[in-house]
Amino acid sequence: MATLSVERELRALLGDGAVLPPDAPGYGADATEGRGVSGRPDAVVLPASTADVARLVAWCYERDVPIVPRGGGSGFAGGAVPVSGGVVVGLGRMRAVRALDPPLWRMHVEAGLPTADVRRRARENGLWFPPDPGAAEQSQIGGNIATNAGGPHAFKYGVTGTWVTGLEAVLAPGEVVTVGGAIRKDVAGYDLRSLLVGSEGTLGIITAAWLRLLPAREASFPVVAHYGEVAAGCAAVEAVLAAGLEPAALEYLDRGTLRAAGAAYPGALPAGAGFTVVAEADGSAAEAARVRDELRAVLAPDALGVDVPAAPADVAALWRWRDGVSIAVTAARGGKVSEDIVVPLDRLGEAIEQTVEIGARHDLEACSWGHAGDGNLHSTFLVARDDSAGLERATRAGEELFALAVALGGSVSGEHGLGWVRRGALARQWPERLLAVHDDIKRAFDPKGLLNPGKKAARPVVDGAPLD
Ligand SMILES: Cc1cc2nc3c(=O)[nH]c(=O)nc-3n(C[C@H](O)[C@H](O)[C@H](O)COP(=O)(O)OP(=O)(O)OC[C@H]3O[C@@H](n4cnc5c(N)ncnc54)[C@H](O)[C@@H]3O)c2cc1C
Repeated sequence: MATLSVERELRALLGDGAVLPPDAPGYGADATEGRGVSGRPDAVVLPASTADVARLVAWCYERDVPIVPRGGGSGFAGGAVPVSGGVVVGLGRMRAVRALDPPLWRMHVEAGLPTADVRRRARENGLWFPPDPGAAEQSQIGGNIATNAGGPHAFKYGVTGTWVTGLEAVLAPGEVVTVGGAIRKDVAGYDLRSLLVGSEGTLGIITAAWLRLLPAREASFPVVAHYGEVAAGCAAVEAVLAAGLEPAALEYLDRGTLRAAGAAYPGALPAGAGFTVVAEADGSAAEAARVRDELRAVLAPDALGVDVPAAPADVAALWRWRDGVSIAVTAARGGKVSEDIVVPLDRLGEAIEQTVEIGARHDLEACSWGHAGDGNLHSTFLVARDDSAGLERATRAGEELFALAVALGGSVSGEHGLGWVRRGALARQWPERLLAVHDDIKRAFDPKGLLNPGKKAARPVVDGAPLD
């Protein structure tokens, strides 16, 4: 269908206020833009209600028009990018808090509410929403759910899906459904809520969610330990678990990452530091202090130095620094290709070292940082902006990285999803039988293949169409 008539018909269906022209800025790319992923939508729709989303999906399904759901566009997988055109559905206007029940520790919110607002509203009511993906001001709760986003606190508290007790979604061919709700347990049917969580806009459009909250933590104290080498740092990470400690977060940065981000570290990096561990103790004030002291004792023996920031401003500065690592690494050369493989914890050191070796084989500077306790690496190849040859080498390096993750007993993505940039990579780690089930699930939800075509494809895809 021609772009002009798509836009015109959608204006008639949903009103002028809900439709932007195809070239409206900000809807053709996400955080993978530096990798060269971009597209041009046939129209951009910003629905104001679930009913609007349902009418839109019905309209698209009747006319075979592809639909690309979009949250805050902070994704690292190209999932919200209209690589083959279609209607981009931005959820940003649907940001109501439908209910907030502090005594019952729960919140019912629309999908377009920014993640930071979810956390803020919980905090203002003495509660806490633990998931803390890095781009919280930009990303939306619907995008977090659609990617099952993680973050530093996933180590103790789990990823976003852990905190979702129910979903409202629009499924093809335009029907509003709810699965779960304001209930804390539900084993009545197959777990379709969990299937929609992490489905990256390929099974339906999430329009609202019921979230579980916790009473706010009384205290949280970080402990930062610096090591000379990867082996010593990873041994310290394992020692934390072996000691029976459960930090809220257990993060790491390797030497290359410290090279890019170390200058902004809000403390003094000891000479020779090549690996930094950031742990956090939390709970009641007494419990957090006890765990902090035990963490310090376990992390200290082979460390070059240990920092224990205590003043709230110093603690905030530390986490601001940690949140800014991805941006600092990008700034080092102007661009990067970052993957997010996950490996068993006892293979973390190998994965970190081999990331650098894979980079060297492709003539690329490489580094990694990430969620050590979860074995989740942001393995990254630095590429200068507009260096298309470097980008190609980085893509090939990424393929080697996927093979490494699988060989180590891990997965090609622990956090960011397959989206467009990792399409087909699942075939490296799943047998044919499971790939067929994956394809069948997609067909069951989306028989015409119009929901985010080509994204999260289990098998290799060319130009939006899966290969047979
Ligand atoms: C600086 C930075 C730091 C980051 N740190 C983290 C981190 O710590 N942990 C982490 O996991 N990720 C992180 N990310 C990646 C990104 O923020 C997450 O993947 C986030 O969950 C994406 O949310 P979004 O709203 O921006 O979604 P988008 O990028 O808009 O979309 C992501 C995917 O979800 C789909 N989608 C979005 N909304 C809906 C909906 N309502 N219904 C159905 N499908 C939908 C899209 O189609 C797409 O496939 C980071 C990104 C940046 C730029």
